[in-house]
Amino acid sequence: MRYDAIVIGGGPSGSSTAIALAQQGRAVAIVERAEFPRRKVCGEFISAVNLQLLDRLGVGDAVRANAGPAVERLALFASGPGIEAGMPRARINPFGRALGRDVLDTMLLQAARDVGVDVFQPWRAVEMAGAGEHKSIRIDASGQSCNLIAPVVIAAHGSWEPGKLPSNLKKTNDDLDCFGFKAYFRGAALASNLMPLLAFPGGYGGMVWTDQDRISLSCCMRRGALAEIRKAGGNLPVGQAVYRHILAACPGVALALADATIDGDWLAAGPIRPGIRPRYADDIFRVGNLAGESHPIIAEGISMALQSGWLLAAELGSVADWGQGGRAEAGRRYAKAWRKQFATRICLASVLAALAGLPPTADLMRRVVTLFPAALSLGARLSGKTRNVPRLAGSRHQA
Ligand SMILES: Cc1cc2nc3c(=O)[nH]c(=O)nc-3n(C[C@H](O)[C@H](O)[C@H](O)COP(=O)(O)OP(=O)(O)OC[C@H]3O[C@@H](n4cnc5c(N)ncnc54)[C@H](O)[C@@H]3O)c2cc1C
Repeated sequence: MRYDAIVIGGGPSGSSTAIALAQQGRAVAIVERAEFPRRKVCGEFISAVNLQLLDRLGVGDAVRANAGPAVERLALFASGPGIEAGMPRARINPFGRALGRDVLDTMLLQAARDVGVDVFQPWRAVEMAGAGEHKSIRIDASGQSCNLIAPVVIAAHGSWEPGKLPSNLKKTNDDLDCFGFKAYFRGAALASNLMPLLAFPGGYGGMVWTDQDRISLSCCMRRGALAEIRKAGGNLPVGQAVYRHILAACPGVALALADATIDGDWLAAGPIRPGIRPRYADDIFRVGNLAGESHPIIAEGISMALQSGWLLAAELGSVADWGQGGRAEAGRRYAKAWRKQFATRICLASVLAALAGLPPTADLMRRVVTLFPAALSLGARLSGKTRNVPRLAGSRHQA
């Protein structure tokens, strides 16, 4: 089967790229290995500036109808009492909200189908062959196999899963590697408009009301710290050992979840791969986590996924043809626009993650925020929470 573009991965970055390209009249296929709806390790907060983009992608009203309450305040829950500050307001839609990834990702993929994208699900992209205008992606599902061919291949498969595609990242094994965890709770005693950042030895996390009256608690912990708490916790499953560690280190979390019940299991993922990577290499475009990933402490990964897909589609839409020269030109421009939009927040997130999880610096962070709660608001602003999405206002591609 032949397409203009094949997108590997149906998370927010893949769907956003595919929808925007289909809106330009391109023939697009998405390959997604998982069946939806599926839960995913993610805090699920979506910054306010994305609402306009979600409108363009055709899901803005559905997101507004389903997401949790507006997040108007931030807090730091570390040792000692919680410290609160205001969330900076964005210009058009002032405050962000959280939406379960089981809901959001399903909505976006359906929106892709609605604009004519062929969705291969649950199919896994396993191999790439060919070159130039005839790149061939082999996809597999329950013993079946077929090939999709296109000049443009977009890797949107995230950075956490291994594989044999040229865009899959190599494994790492370091004590500083971070693993992600997430669970939902019901019946929590947390103000509906508050999103606390959690800082505890060996890691950091966050809590927020998402859809369906559930709270998501997500966090990251270093490999070395995980090994220690698991040793101390006997045979507890890893998610529960992490939860016990957080409850002991952050009294604000213990208070908020004292009467809450867990909804489902703890999920784990990783190691996560913070950093900036090539956005176009070996004639493959990369979006979302694969192009570059921030430590989740700033809760900007969904924004970066949605926006990078949009940016790439805008650059591909602005070159006259998708031959070798056109692809290289779009790749060069996309890489530059991507860096301008996201590099600062990736660096900031790395600094904050290091400060939050290490014992002496975590205490320093708590003291600074105690004296200057506005530091929380400033951090949120610097992390891109109010930064407009380029090419949105004047774009000629209407949803
Ligand atoms: C603990 C934690 C908390 C977080 N909290 C937040 C938050 O509150 N707000 C926020 O904005 N971000 C948050 N993030 C980050 C956010 O989850 C990611 O940045 C985001 O999911 C990246 O989207 P993506 O589309 O690039 O990749 P993904 O969402 O990972 O999607 C990739 C898709 O590709 C599919 N896939 C993989 N391999 C293949 C293959 N070979 N063939 C076909 N399909 C394939 C997968 O099944 C998946 O559906 C958090 C992350 C962690 C770890």
